[in-house]
Amino acid sequence: MKKPRISAKDFASLYKQYNANLAFVDCGRKCAPLNNGQPVCCTTENAIPVVDKAEFELLKGRTDLWFKYKPNDAVSRRIVDELNSNACAIECKGAAFCERDNRTIACRSFPFYPYLDKKGNFIGLTYYWDFEDRCWIISNMQVVERKFVDEMVAAFERIFKLDPDEYDTMKSHSATMRRVFTRQGKIIPIIHRDGGYFKIKPGNDGTLTPCTPDDFKKFGPYKSEAAYIKAVKEAGGTLGPVPKGGYLAS
Ligand code: SF4
Ligand code: SF4
Repeated sequence: MKKPRISAKDFASLYKQYNANLAFVDCGRKCAPLNNGQPVCCTTENAIPVVDKAEFELLKGRTDLWFKYKPNDAVSRRIVDELNSNACAIECKGAAFCERDNRTIACRSFPFYPYLDKKGNFIGLTYYWDFEDRCWIISNMQVVERKFVDEMVAAFERIFKLDPDEYDTMKSHSATMRRVFTRQGKIIPIIHRDGGYFKIKPGNDGTLTPCTPDDFKKFGPYKSEAAYIKAVKEAGGTLGPVPKGGYLAS
């Protein structure tokens, strides 16, 4: 008999439990001036939200915010073609129409994903490294709230139990990150599930070394205040108010 899969009802319950602010900083104000005024993770030119079909079913019943994503070039077509049969790519109406309670699990988690070690232990959070040069949070992990970490860990513990495919995907993604970061000679930053920041040095066996967010690299326009101001000017963007706890204060 076919095993029951994660359901729309499960996602409704996950949405209730996992709703904390990632940070008390409106980080969209930091990345949007470099992305035509739109937060990077809310534009499908940058990030295409991929959800379980059961999650899309839930959303369709609650709101008209979301619709099926239509690929518009070879790269996006390949991304959609390679999705497994339980997943689908979707798009929302845009940041101006965002409905907090109807954000996907992917929206709530971005730019983080659950990091699993070689043995498959769920250690904590790390980030989708393709966004290092665009997501301000990745260069400012000191602003991430503990409540957010706790809720994201609890949500993914549940998701992994309900959806073993998602566990396998995250395990494989973590292994890819270890390979890529070893090749690039970079540390993997970890926000530990039990608290604290850690780094995994390139090429080692996955040993966690305690550290502070100051040990994590900053990227692209977020390397310094001067680099950011220059990049915003070049992009023709407008500098927003400086968020408390943001990089200008660090
Ligand atoms: S999470 Fe990153 S990409 Fe998304 S709004 Fe915040 S800084 Fe921008
Ligand atoms: S639902 Fe909100 S957070 Fe999610 S992609 Fe749309 S605008 Fe961004």
